[in-house]
This record gives sequence, C-alpha cells and structure tokens, in this order.
Amino acid sequence: GMAEERLPAWIRVTMPARSRHDEVRRVLGKYRLNTVCEDAKCPNAFECWGLGTATIMILGDTCTRACRFCAVKTGKPGAVDWFEPIRVALAVRDLGLKYVVITSVDRDDLADGGASIYASTVRQIKRVNPGTRVEALIPDFNLNRDSLRAVVEAGPDVVAHNLETVERLTPLVRDRRGGYGKSLEALRIVKELRGGQVTKSSIMLGLGEERGEVIKAMRDLRDAGVDILTIGQYLRPTGGARHLPVARYVPPNEFQELKELGLRMGFRAVAAGPLVRSSYRALELFDS
Ligand code: SF4
Ligand code: SF4
Repeated sequence: GMAEERLPAWIRVTMPARSRHDEVRRVLGKYRLNTVCEDAKCPNAFECWGLGTATIMILGDTCTRACRFCAVKTGKPGAVDWFEPIRVALAVRDLGLKYVVITSVDRDDLADGGASIYASTVRQIKRVNPGTRVEALIPDFNLNRDSLRAVVEAGPDVVAHNLETVERLTPLVRDRRGGYGKSLEALRIVKELRGGQVTKSSIMLGLGEERGEVIKAMRDLRDAGVDILTIGQYLRPTGGARHLPVARYVPPNEFQELKELGLRMGFRAVAAGPLVRSSYRALELFDS
C-alpha cells in the first residue's frame, strides 16, 4: 500500500478531526452508504469534511469495469436499491453538507447505466436540502443520450466526468470499455443537452504522461466545453498487480504552471496540486 512507498515531502496526509470523522462514519453507517473519501483513503478528508463537503458512492460497491488506478472492486454488482436516493438525501441532511458529490461504480449491467438512480438521488437531495449544491460525477453511460439527459434534467449544479489521463495512456490506465474520445463525447453531450450546465473533469498526473500530452488533454476538455478542471497526482491504491506503479511524483510548481495555463485557456476554475482530487475544494471551485 501507500505506506510502503517513499512519498515526497509535499504529499502529507492529514486525518480528519476525530469527532467529525466519527460523526461521518456514524451517519453513513446508519444509512448504509459508502463514501469515496473513506474507501479511497483520500488525503483530504480532514479539509473536505470540515468544509462541509463529501463524496458519496451510490449503486453499490462493485464495478463492472476494472481501471488500473482504482481501488473499487470489480465483479457482478448487486440489485439496484430504489430507497438509496432517499437514504443519501437524509445523510446529507444529518451531516449538514453544503456541497455533495454523488458518484457511482460503472453499471454496464443496467440498461440505463444507473442514470435513473442518479437522477432520483439528485432530486431527493435537493428536495430535502434545498441549499445544498450537488455535483453528479457520472460514468460515460456508454454515451446513452437518454441516460445523460435524465441526469441533466434532475438539475445537478455540476455534472462531472473524469478524463483521468492523456490519450496515449488511456488504454493502459482505464478499463477498455472507457475511452478518451468517449469521455470527451459524454462531456460534450451534457453541454449540448443544457448549455448552461456547469461541467467539470479531472486528470491525474504521474502515470508516465508528457507535458505536451497533458496540454493536449486540457485543450480537448476545453473544446468539449468543460468549465472546471482539477489536476492531481496519481497515488497507487495498493501494491497489487492490477494497480499501476507511480511513474513520477510531479512537483508542486508544475501543477501551478498547469493551473495558470488552464485559466488562460478559459477554464472558469482550475485546482491543481499533488493532493487535489476531483472533488477537492469543490464548493470553492464552483463559487469562483
Ligand atoms: Fe472526499 Fe473528494 Fe474531499 Fe477526498 S477530495 S475527502 S474524496 S470529497
Ligand atoms: Fe473505478 Fe473504473 Fe469502476 Fe470507475 S469505472 S469505479 S474508476 S474501476
């Protein structure tokens, strides 16, 4: 795991304050929900939870895909739980979240990819928590327009879909059912369905990409109409064979340069840094 790797000094992991941590665990346990913050052992949990942000994973804990950077287990997912949306909405209320990211495993086994559960979750959160901002961090839904439309029509403040890496490395890094062009197309369709929809995407560095390839990916995202960009360091979730080793720890100044470049390209907001995750400082980025 991460502990065995020799990490550079700029990668520091802070744990959430004990009381808030216990509270989040208790509420999620009560409603039988998974957070990405905990499951991915995200280094920002202290900061995010303290700022009233969390990422909740819906549609189960088993993914039909097997990306080589991801800690989520692969297999045959269980049945869809139609009460999950209301449980999420109540958990958001109990935790007093100001901004919540809803994400999921990929459900290639479902005709709509799980879009109806996403849509229902967004609606229930908004109904129970009118002031809470909701980000739907969605899969590509195999470019099913009806699925993408269902999510957009539910009214999330942000629709996010992660490009993850540069074009050349995509076949190595992501499950073969995902794709570079496919992800860009999903983001483009979302924007086409609702012009005012704020969209967001994320790229990880440290997988062996070159600077020019990163800049190309940023341009491609901007061409797909993406508004908000996050760029972070890839960290290997486990030492197992599925998980790619880190090719490089990118120093903070390179992230800073990419952030400035992204703003010049016309992204409305960019977060870039070694510990940045797609949901990092999400409220602040949205409001900027
Ligand atoms: Fe959770 Fe995302 Fe914040 Fe990490 S960056 S703690 S996954 S909300
Ligand atoms: Fe992880 Fe890939 Fe499944 Fe997303 S699609 S949960 S990144 S394995």
